[in-house]
Amino acid sequence: MWGTQFPLASGVTARHDSPMIHPMHRLLGCIAAFVLLLPLARLDAAQAISFDIDARELPRKLLRTRMTFPVQPGTNSFYYPKWIPGIHAPRGPIENLAGLRFSTPDGKTLPWSRDEVELYRFQVEVPAGAYELVAELDYITNQPNSNSSSVDSFGNAFIGTINLNTCVLYPATVTNAAAVRYRASLRLPPGWKHASALTVSDAGETITFAPVTLEVLIDSPIIAGEHLRSHTFKPTGFPPVHYHLNSESAAALQLGDNRLKQFEALAVQGMKLFQTAPFDAYHFLVNASDDFPGMGLEHTASSLNGVPETTFTDDKKWAIYIDVLPHELVHAWCGKWRRPIGMVTGNYHDDNKTGGLWVYEGLTQYLGHLLHVRSGMASPEENLQQLARTISRLQLQKGRQWRPLKDTAVDSWHLRGGSKSWEYLRRRQDYYNEGLFVWLEVDAILRGATNSEKSLDDFCAIFFRHQPGDGLVKAFDYDEVVAELNRLHQFDWDAFFEERVFATQAALPLTAVERLGYRIEYGTTPSDWHKLIEGNSKYADAYESLGIAVRESGEIIDVIPGSPADHAKLAPGQQLAGVNGRKFSLARFREGIADTPTRREIGFLVLKGDLYATVTVPYDAGPKFMKLVRNPDKPDLIGAIFKAK
Ligand SMILES: [Zn+2]
Repeated sequence: MWGTQFPLASGVTARHDSPMIHPMHRLLGCIAAFVLLLPLARLDAAQAISFDIDARELPRKLLRTRMTFPVQPGTNSFYYPKWIPGIHAPRGPIENLAGLRFSTPDGKTLPWSRDEVELYRFQVEVPAGAYELVAELDYITNQPNSNSSSVDSFGNAFIGTINLNTCVLYPATVTNAAAVRYRASLRLPPGWKHASALTVSDAGETITFAPVTLEVLIDSPIIAGEHLRSHTFKPTGFPPVHYHLNSESAAALQLGDNRLKQFEALAVQGMKLFQTAPFDAYHFLVNASDDFPGMGLEHTASSLNGVPETTFTDDKKWAIYIDVLPHELVHAWCGKWRRPIGMVTGNYHDDNKTGGLWVYEGLTQYLGHLLHVRSGMASPEENLQQLARTISRLQLQKGRQWRPLKDTAVDSWHLRGGSKSWEYLRRRQDYYNEGLFVWLEVDAILRGATNSEKSLDDFCAIFFRHQPGDGLVKAFDYDEVVAELNRLHQFDWDAFFEERVFATQAALPLTAVERLGYRIEYGTTPSDWHKLIEGNSKYADAYESLGIAVRESGEIIDVIPGSPADHAKLAPGQQLAGVNGRKFSLARFREGIADTPTRREIGFLVLKGDLYATVTVPYDAGPKFMKLVRNPDKPDLIGAIFKAK
């Protein structure tokens, strides 16, 4: 319904907290913050908080920082960042905090206490006459929690990643992170180079960065390493785009010309899609490492990406993992510059409301995929195969019968990590791929109704337009999204989003496929894309036929509710020890499914805990794999949408 989908009540507060939206509030917020921080006599001397980062022990998984805060005598409180943008969760990795110490500048240690309700908040009594407070902490890297991988810090003997939210404190008085400035410096292991969106003011043994706001500081991760190398592209009429590639080995960073051309094409296609940019320069920070977790996290002028070590040199890895880059690039506009109003806060401890993630992440998932194909990183045929597999998985998702898509956004962080059992009953972070499918249909509606004169490209150019002086973030709500779509094409968007986003569903609506000029058919052979994913993760995916996927070890990964495997009472975590009387292997599992049209069943020896049991699954339809087939009676909108501009 109009105006009720986003948390407007808290959003109003957030909007007024945000100086990026109202310049007058920026001024007032700035003055207010410093009045709280400093005694009046010292206002003239107000300086940025010094923030010295010692990363020399990153290879030993330790990061040390020292901050000097201007304070007043009495009780002073500080926060360790809790709600970190991008992970959409109150899971700043405070469990890795060690060695927290407060002292006066002359070295007197001051006792501190932790708030017993808000565990991210610390109090310290500053003695009379002291107007500066030193805070030091050690941070233990390489042990992220289930939400923090992409905002955590990592190190090994060769490379490192520093997310500054892991090693910084800020005064609890901060209501506006854009009004508090930090002057950061960095020391790295010998021989390491670094890259980030921060401006270097002195590049000596201690690297000094130009002062930035707390907002920019936390938005600016740093990667470093011995072999780090950079490639820069300058799309005509747009800001430069830098690719900073980092790995344990120099050989992993040897890119062929075809890869570099696709990097350049991604920059060009991104700029052509949005037409204006919310940054002066963009930095892809990419760790190609098997030691660090895979990740992708958006920032305004950079993104932090983690891919396997051989991604740049192995065609298969490139095909599977490189799509994180276009996704994160899109976020500079969708999520960073324009953000759902419930996710705009002035600090890192006020709660976010994440119900708007079906736009923030869903539209980004769609546009990122669009750029993935338009840049040539995926071929049109691979695109069709990827879309078919995505739609197939969404169609199998039965959780839609009890929980609407929006609820996966509202409760997003509980759906990341945790149990993988019965994901098609519980739902996954469906606001990503189901969001993609919703926005693909929006594009199809716009193009279909206007003879392709209007499209989501037009929406992007208008909705994400960034003009000089616009600042870093501008909130949006549901009404603005619908109003902008209606300006492009009058349509009952409320009914459309109500059915697809806000309501439960008996089954996935598939009108998008018809609108795009395609039909769904099932074949008996998997697509190359399906085989690539199976081979990469060493498992067999028979969700569309039997309703299970099985690891090379025989472990059942998950079971689709209502499938033949479900009716036969197979369960996630059970071990398939045999198939049709022979020892289990992935090949025999696939053969067993291929034989079902004649055998009319498949038999398993199943290990359930320490109990062996024989399970027969009645099934006679053989292997099944969804594919998208052209409907020649309608225009090919997939071809039109994904064509490079
Ligand atoms: Zn994202």
